[in-house]
Amino acid sequence: MEKLVGQTPLLEIKSLSRLIGGSVLAKCEFMNPGGSIKDRAALQMILDAAESGLLRPRNWIVEGTAGNTGIGLSVIGKSLGYRVHLFMPKGQSLDKQNDLSFYADKLSLVDPCPFSSDEHFYHQARIYSEKHSNAWWANQFENLSNFKAHFENTGPEIWKQTSKRITCFVSVAGTGGTISGCSNYLKNQNAKIKVFLVDPKGSGLCSYVQSGEFKSEGGSITEGIGIMRLTENFKKAKIDKAVSFSDSAILSLMRYVEREDGIKLGGSSALNLLGAVYAGKKMGLGQTVVTFLCDGAKRSAARFYNEDYLKEKSIELLDFEELVSAIV
Ligand code: PMP
Repeated sequence: MEKLVGQTPLLEIKSLSRLIGGSVLAKCEFMNPGGSIKDRAALQMILDAAESGLLRPRNWIVEGTAGNTGIGLSVIGKSLGYRVHLFMPKGQSLDKQNDLSFYADKLSLVDPCPFSSDEHFYHQARIYSEKHSNAWWANQFENLSNFKAHFENTGPEIWKQTSKRITCFVSVAGTGGTISGCSNYLKNQNAKIKVFLVDPKGSGLCSYVQSGEFKSEGGSITEGIGIMRLTENFKKAKIDKAVSFSDSAILSLMRYVEREDGIKLGGSSALNLLGAVYAGKKMGLGQTVVTFLCDGAKRSAARFYNEDYLKEKSIELLDFEELVSAIV
């Protein structure tokens, strides 16, 4: 199974290339065996922990996760002979809960509470691993194997696939592993490559990059991205510009790409593409912009493809071409 991780193809999103007068290229991370970009971090964390002896044969891999990392650790970890125990907060969509319990050996549901409390699902995973000598806590936020996965694999793949022509790199961040690993590798190859962070409303990363302080406004229905604290992985990122977009803008791009290119997108993938259009418009004609389709559209369908849910959240659909022409 581990041989199936990475080496994902680059897909041109033609309607967006036309809008920026350049190329918008997206790495198809939904083609990884667990269906997302997080398979890369999951595999590297497992390999490094096994090599250092922290993770021993038949041990339990433990992680606090409500999504893609849990699926990645389960699909890859189990194929390598480990068992997987995930902690997730109660109250997530039933679809998600079903997905995680389908893939993992064990799923523990934890009452939602603030991050500062030991009852938080993140800390529950850590505390469980401290009490059980046959358990290893992956800790994707602070574990720098996550950075390494992208520095050693994703970044080099992009450099090779664009024949060194990439001019802008765009990424969302959850743990920050993707943006830190790729930005370091790509800037080592060509310091002129511009790196853009795209953030949903409700996350503090954009303001952190702009002002050094974690401040946020509003919220977002996107999942798996945005954070209000500085992680070891994000700390290493080399970012030139950070920008934040509303759910209305994300939804508008999603519907535009579906209509023009016939491609359905997940929430973070749509935000990445919005960032790619922003980067292309800001940098001028002729850019080669690379970003990710982090997972498949189905994982966000209960939200972004559910008209009742969108109505309930009052997320308005905007004219996407107008929105793009307002970026100057
Ligand atoms: N997109 C999706 C759908 C994710 O689940 C995640 C991670 N939770 C990311 C993007 C961000 O990746 P990273 O953790 O490397 O910052």
